[in-house]
Amino acid sequence: MIEANDKETQGVVDYIKNFIRKHSIFMLAYGTGCGAIELPATLTSRYDAERLGIRGAATPRQADVLLITGYLSTKTLKRVIRVYEQMQDPKYVIGFGSCTINGGMYFDSYNTINSLAQYIPVDIYINGCMPRPEAILAGFEELQKKIQKGEADNGTKYQENIEWYRANQKKIIKNWRMPDYNW
Ligand code: SF4
Repeated sequence: MIEANDKETQGVVDYIKNFIRKHSIFMLAYGTGCGAIELPATLTSRYDAERLGIRGAATPRQADVLLITGYLSTKTLKRVIRVYEQMQDPKYVIGFGSCTINGGMYFDSYNTINSLAQYIPVDIYINGCMPRPEAILAGFEELQKKIQKGEADNGTKYQENIEWYRANQKKIIKNWRMPDYNW
């Protein structure tokens, strides 16, 4: 959906760029939690996410959106950070399910994280345990609105606040030993 004032608040070039971007979303679904089971129905003929320009990407470097589909162990978080840092700007993150918001039913687990946004920037949360395909498509629609408005710029914010994110990441991942990403 295009808001009436989108064209007025952006230059024409940015407006067209964002319009194209929001209809060409390549998604890397990182199936960390049980919610991933809703994705096949979302992406296939029943709900047909591709009619909205949403489709799967094969590698992080080809992906626009990283979809984290539920709870994250600290071990998996390390891989998720690595994947996120390999994605090219502009890049977006969707936190899928209650577990990415506050830990969900695993909130007091000894080895899962409670809030994804402490470690990588999250553009949109889709709440629920687990969210149905309608909710997933509504979440993507919200992301598309942010892209059209030029408000989805968390990749840049991640670089600008890398020290804060690194401190949080290293606090919980004891065995860090990853190369520091070179932008
Ligand atoms: S939010 Fe619910 S469905 Fe999603 S990963 Fe957590 S427990 Fe599983």
